[in-house]
Amino acid sequence: MMNLESVELKSNIGSLRGIGPKKEKIFNESGINTIEDFIYFFPRSYQDRREITKIKDLKPGADSLIVAKVLTKKAPNNFRKNSPLSLLVSDDSGAIEIVFFNGRFLSRLFDLNIEYSFFGRISENYARFQMIHPEFSKAGSPEDIRGIIPIYPRIPGISQKEIRRMQKELSHLYSEVDDWIPEDLAAENRLADMEFALKNMHFPTDGKKVLAAKFRMVFSELLVLETGLQYMRKGEQRINEGISFDCSNSEEFIRGLDFDLTEGQKEAWEKIRNDLEGRQRMNRLLQGDVGSGKTVVAELAMYAACNSGYQSVIMAPTEILAKQHLETFTRDFDSYGIKPKLLISSMERKEKKEVIEGLADGSVSMLIATHAVLQENVRFKKLGLVITDEQHRFGVNQRRKLYEKGEGVNVLVMTATPIPRTLAVILYGDLDSSQIRTMPKGRKPVKTTLSHKDDRNKVYTFAAEKIKEGRQVYVVAPLIDDSESIEAVSATKLFDELKAKFSDSKVELIHGAMKQESKDMVMQDFSEGLIDVLVSTVVIEVGINVPNATVMIIENSERFGLAQLHQLRGRVGRGSEESFCFLISDSENDIAIKRGEIMCSTNDGFEIAEKDLELRGPGELFGTKQHGIPELLLSDLVKHIDVLEKAQQAAKQLLDRDPGLDMPENSGVRERVKSMFGEDLSLSL
Ligand code: ADP
Ligand code: MG
Repeated sequence: MMNLESVELKSNIGSLRGIGPKKEKIFNESGINTIEDFIYFFPRSYQDRREITKIKDLKPGADSLIVAKVLTKKAPNNFRKNSPLSLLVSDDSGAIEIVFFNGRFLSRLFDLNIEYSFFGRISENYARFQMIHPEFSKAGSPEDIRGIIPIYPRIPGISQKEIRRMQKELSHLYSEVDDWIPEDLAAENRLADMEFALKNMHFPTDGKKVLAAKFRMVFSELLVLETGLQYMRKGEQRINEGISFDCSNSEEFIRGLDFDLTEGQKEAWEKIRNDLEGRQRMNRLLQGDVGSGKTVVAELAMYAACNSGYQSVIMAPTEILAKQHLETFTRDFDSYGIKPKLLISSMERKEKKEVIEGLADGSVSMLIATHAVLQENVRFKKLGLVITDEQHRFGVNQRRKLYEKGEGVNVLVMTATPIPRTLAVILYGDLDSSQIRTMPKGRKPVKTTLSHKDDRNKVYTFAAEKIKEGRQVYVVAPLIDDSESIEAVSATKLFDELKAKFSDSKVELIHGAMKQESKDMVMQDFSEGLIDVLVSTVVIEVGINVPNATVMIIENSERFGLAQLHQLRGRVGRGSEESFCFLISDSENDIAIKRGEIMCSTNDGFEIAEKDLELRGPGELFGTKQHGIPELLLSDLVKHIDVLEKAQQAAKQLLDRDPGLDMPENSGVRERVKSMFGEDLSLSL
């Protein structure tokens, strides 16, 4: 036997038998450094291989388990390294051939007339059934591949069998793994204990036990998430007393606009106005599809702040968007004598200094900014309202940093990425939520077409016609550079192609790896109509408003998620002209096709979001990162919403009793919260 006695949970994975420096590195790259990490490396699914199929009942195409004796072994009698091995095996019902290509070296693993388990797909070769490259084991051996078999996430170069063998060897350590959930919480939520959970995650014997094990693990992860989020939020709840605004001037502002508010905008403003006039601090989420007109609602709120003698700030995720807001705000507030100011990183030092001074002495009343405003040297004299635009692009912490620059500050969070109500509560705390579900009048839905790659030329011919009419075109590619491993049109290559194709027009390229200044310059030129065709990666995804652009072409559209496609499409259809979106793809992937169909069938972002959730297959995680919360290893916030609710409850209890997580029995939770939130949780924990 190996040096098992000396292996401990904290030992490096490299201290295991058979794990040399090369494999150790592979494990490390998959985030597995210690034995304990490996024990926490859980199967992504399970395969039920309890049922043995008789050889006579085998069907082509089916994954099957047989238990059979080896009758003959045949390996060509030469010394070529990669010659195949063919076995004839039989049970009491019949016989079948088993083939391992390049498998000559496997020959010694099989003894004649001994029973083995084989698991694999049955194929047909000249009307004879074969099993090619099955998994196998000696029947009844400890490594028997019969049973409920865990399927682990792939680690390149490490086989499933090896992972299972290693887990088995380490299973005696399961009892030593810290069972860190406080006992009363575990009891109340009927959690399986750690040892049971680990054993049944890795070596399940029946489905119910797997469920109990999984519940325990997912619950633990979500408990840590919730405890961290709620801990951060406690600061927010202390300051319930808010600043009240006088909103009586809003009507004049609305009359001054050159359009009428939509019903959705009116409703949203009613709610916000109520919040602002009330004594409680506003804490509201405003969801509205791309182009639904959230900006003007933000302006109304900021106008009220200004009229009440308070400063306000709107924070946007990109400089381009901030500049665009500056333009809009400057135009809209001009006649009221309000001069909105900009604060972004790329500004001249001197200019920046002036704005920062103006914020500190109160002479700047309205600010449009990027995250540059979060820096410590930016202070406000009398901050009354903060708005984050495109909130999903910010982390949980950034919003907090912003409103902590004042006291009792009203908070408005805007996003075009709809999320289910329950999730909103969890991600954004106890935010009140409103939606704008109507579009401004005269907006025509974007005509969306799914085009096969073979029809690309037609699409570009159509685009050329639109350019002749004076319109502008976006072309989006999924990658910046050509990559050998991924077969997709890159933006750079596409740029070269389109420059040649549209030789009479101005074609430009923009992508995420470009310097901010260059990006801004290109965007500026595009919005001034100096560029006809803009080839881009997803950097144009957020917020940009160029009404004269009416054609959006998305290459390799199968590589984008639904929400992303919808955001991209939202770049067109922003003016009175009819707009078009082409999704170019030759993918035969079911999900990709379905996504395309959904895009063609509706322009409603809320509907798309719902469909998106339905479409996500098991195992595909809800993009937590996109919403600025830490990455989860086990849990899917949508699929596990009921566990999440329980964890939320438990976290609340925990923090009510022990607000600083100081009690010894909560040290395990505290440690894990710290490691999940890392730098983000710059608190006294
Ligand atoms: P988003 O919600 O995506 O941020 P914007 O606020 O940028 O949308 O609005 C998109 C465009 O619609 C802007 O050009 C804006 O001036 C215009 N708009 C907003 N509200 C209305 C309305 N009620 N009627 C007509 N146009 C409007
Ligand atoms: Mg916007």
